[in-house]
Amino acid sequence: MTEKIVCGKCKMLLYAGEDIKRRLYMRAIPSEESVLALYKNTCPSCGSALTLDTVEVVIKEHGR
Ligand SMILES: [Zn+2]
Repeated sequence: MTEKIVCGKCKMLLYAGEDIKRRLYMRAIPSEESVLALYKNTCPSCGSALTLDTVEVVIKEHGR
């Protein structure tokens, strides 16, 4: 599966890659919240606050 996190306001792509649950297993990225923390919880594009309520998390399975 792949996961994308985009700003809920301006749709800026904040994270894209393997879904974070898998990364958690690999200890690469602990959680969505730590991804937001990389941006200091602020969208670098529109400046809106990034929380799990204001971003969109899109998880897609490979194939159909
Ligand atoms: Zn934004």
